[in-house]
Amino acid sequence: VSLTISPIRDYNGSIIGISKIARDITERKREEKRKNDFVAMVSHELKTPLTSILLYAQLLIKKSGTVQDDTFLNMSSKIEAYVKRMISMITDYLGLSRIEEGKMNLQKTRFELDHLALEVIEEASLISSKHSLELVSSEGVWVYADKEKMRQVLINLVSNAVKYSPQGGPVILGCERVAGKAQIYVKDKGLGISPADQNKLFQRFYRVDDDQIKNISGFGIGLYLVSELLRLHDSQILVKSEVGKGSVFYFYLDLD
Ligand code: ADP
Repeated sequence: VSLTISPIRDYNGSIIGISKIARDITERKREEKRKNDFVAMVSHELKTPLTSILLYAQLLIKKSGTVQDDTFLNMSSKIEAYVKRMISMITDYLGLSRIEEGKMNLQKTRFELDHLALEVIEEASLISSKHSLELVSSEGVWVYADKEKMRQVLINLVSNAVKYSPQGGPVILGCERVAGKAQIYVKDKGLGISPADQNKLFQRFYRVDDDQIKNISGFGIGLYLVSELLRLHDSQILVKSEVGKGSVFYFYLDLD
């Protein structure tokens, strides 16, 4: 129940009584849940046809070997990269509801993080023609983590670095062994973030209140998800940034 209490005043402004309005907000809460469930269902339904498109794009890539045509290979690879990006946006949204319901489980395996970083940077290069994407990595950065969740973390950070560098510019993904840990960072020379905003970035639905940023599409859930996924890995996302100069987002994982 939400309760609003306000004074009732006479012509002179003296308080002559109090009005109390009680509203039943159970229905509002129910409506909110219905809406969330609906969006989750739509997202889930979209994933099925997108996965089919992805499979066909991958078949086309295989076929391109037989037609010896670079344009054909290039276009099919772009379709693959864009569809993967769409699937990853949907995965983010579905992940959000899963985290809220406390149902996000990790499936940890031992894998080389530098290999995953290379996959992410190669894919991002296909759809970011204005930026030069670079990987700086050590070899054999073995970790014990949830590979697909780590992919989600890296994709979110790299696509933000690209999105928020509207003038183009270099984006570097680093994956190195530093002082007995795996150090991962994503560095851009884009818009940068003020100290006040840096404190709020990881809140759900938070977007910097700036005209330039509002023109760039986004939901404000990427960094929230990144920080939650890293928290589940006993890690933490950190940021250093300066307005007009660029940003670096970084975190550490235990080596395995
Ligand atoms: P979205 O990009 O969908 O808005 P995120 O949660 O990924 O959501 O990011 C939240 C906000 O943080 C963005 O709206 C943007 O204002 C800011 N931000 C994130 N990454 C960067 C970056 N690399 N450079 C500048 N601002 C960024």
